[in-house]
Amino acid sequence: MLDILACPLDKNYPLELIELNVKELEKEDKVKENYHPLNNDENNPIVKKNNNGEGNKANELKQNEKVIIVIDGILYCKKCSRFYPIIDEIPIMLPDELREKEKDLQFLTKWKHSIPEEILTNSNPWHL
Ligand SMILES: [Zn+2]
Repeated sequence: MLDILACPLDKNYPLELIELNVKELEKEDKVKENYHPLNNDENNPIVKKNNNGEGNKANELKQNEKVIIVIDGILYCKKCSRFYPIIDEIPIMLPDELREKEKDLQFLTKWKHSIPEEILTNSNPWHL
């Protein structure tokens, strides 16, 4: 998903991703998130596998298929040095005129120990 996000100013991509706060999802969780009420358990191969007593095999499989979700992070455009916050899993890709300076600075301050110096001190449209 992040691969297709481009800088709204210069359309540059891919943007550099800085992960500040992540969670790991096992593939089973992801399937549950996509669960559709028209599907019943018999059409869900993961549920079926567990019911057949192949628990160990299923666990091995899941460990290899973890999905990293970025809860908080930054997308950084190297071309124009702009940073775009990711808050609660949502990338906020706004042009400068719609950004709120105070909120952006609060975000940078909150994560300043995890954000590369280059972004803290040089990023556009503003920085600490
Ligand atoms: Zn840019």
